[in-house]
Amino acid sequence: MSLSFDPATIALPQAHFIGGERIAASDGIALHRPSDCVAYADCPVAEADLVDRAVAAAQTALKTSGWSTARPRERLNALHRWADLIEAEAVTLARMEALASTRPIAELLKFDIPVTIEQIRFFAEFADKEGGDLVPTASDSVGFIATEPYGVVGAITPWNFPLSMAAWKLGPALAAGNAVVLKPSEMTPFATLYMAELSVKAGLPAGLINIVLGDGRTTGAAITGHPGIAKVSFTGSTGAGSAIMENIARTGVKPMTLELGGKSPQLVFADADIAQAAGAVARGIMANAGQACVAGSRLVVEASVAEEVVGHILKIMSDIRPGPTWDEATGYAPIISERQLGRMASIVDAAIARGARARTGGQALDREGYFYAPTLLEGLAPDSPAITEEIFGPVLTVQTFRDEDEAMALADHPTYGLCAGLYTRDLSRALRLSNRLQAGTVWVNRYGRSRDHILPTGGYKQSGLGKDLGREAYLANRKSKSILIAV
Ligand code: NAD
Repeated sequence: MSLSFDPATIALPQAHFIGGERIAASDGIALHRPSDCVAYADCPVAEADLVDRAVAAAQTALKTSGWSTARPRERLNALHRWADLIEAEAVTLARMEALASTRPIAELLKFDIPVTIEQIRFFAEFADKEGGDLVPTASDSVGFIATEPYGVVGAITPWNFPLSMAAWKLGPALAAGNAVVLKPSEMTPFATLYMAELSVKAGLPAGLINIVLGDGRTTGAAITGHPGIAKVSFTGSTGAGSAIMENIARTGVKPMTLELGGKSPQLVFADADIAQAAGAVARGIMANAGQACVAGSRLVVEASVAEEVVGHILKIMSDIRPGPTWDEATGYAPIISERQLGRMASIVDAAIARGARARTGGQALDREGYFYAPTLLEGLAPDSPAITEEIFGPVLTVQTFRDEDEAMALADHPTYGLCAGLYTRDLSRALRLSNRLQAGTVWVNRYGRSRDHILPTGGYKQSGLGKDLGREAYLANRKSKSILIAV
């Protein structure tokens, strides 16, 4: 069966989802399909009163359902039933997401949705396996560390991989016994809302997951500053992360997990398998047209092999299959919005005006929709914004080095430290430099997240605070209590 579909036939749930019910809403932020710029819906903007209602619904659900107090295996079973239902409705979800986002339908059904399901199942397994610790104390006492859920977690997600970003938040928070008020990005809110509705159909208590739509300034700030929200879990830009910290500090004190931006280097040494490394570098910047926090946007390559590596990458960059996200043949994503397209074009244009050379790309694609050509820039000044700023598009900069120390100096970014790629056949060098790289994740002879959800993800420096995925994400959704009993 063909996966292609007509976007005009897709109905979207234009509403909030609170206490298990849709709250209809109409006017809001006008949304355009990235693939053809056609206006398709408005994203309603929840004000503080609606966020109050969502928090109250979450508190009631926790009180009345026994979600956090029943046998943990019941949480695990319920989350697996939800994952089963997402699997059964994969095509409906994928179509809603493909219509609105930059994710092509074939990739959604092959990666995003299977990964989302896997991540929910992965976190469900912690519910009845991860406990507290009995700790050594004086023999006239018994000391142990117990853990318990926070209560209501506030979650905020970006637009680039909407469903799996929601799973990163919902999976560990729910498995750990919390309820959630989640605000998806105003650019891509509807499939996330539909996925939350499926949870109620799967038997999760109504009100356990509440989805409020809206922007960051109004709805997002109402969530992060709400006194009923006990913990905040955020994924998005470093600027928004900083605004959230400020809002939390102004309105009280609460724990937060922040997964933020990046400007990640990919280091290729002359002893690497050059064709393999170039392929991984190219995929690391072209996946989702560079709209990934982990995009490997800075190629740092040993001078003696630079031209060979660049040659391979240019060849891969010339072979793209752009198209509408609802066409199953599409293999190259559009940019999310006209604004984002304009922002990346202005950074690249300014770099070229200052003397950089675009070996390929450097402009929007001449076709309908917000598409930008894969771009490779050389001859950049080290302080060029193309090197220092997160472009969030398919733009790869090239810098060369002569020895390890120079490579490390170029790899180091003053602000970001999300991830880094390292290509070498020398095992000692791989271990030595993995230790030196200032990044929350280092990939050696590969690039990009795998489906090993046990590996936590998170940034050094201003790329974040705390971790998503892994055991750490589960534990971050429970607070610990030290108990000492005199015997
Ligand atoms: P963004 O920061 O503009 O928005 C992300 C979310 O935060 C949206 O839901 C938005 O409405 C909300 N928001 C914005 N300002 C807010 C505020 N002051 N208070 C509360 N909420 C606010 O980011 P984006 O453009 O949606 O996503 C791209 C960014 O996300 C990039 O910087 C990318 O690197 C980052 N990202 C990071 C990771 C990671 O794991 N580190 C993963 C995906 C994306």
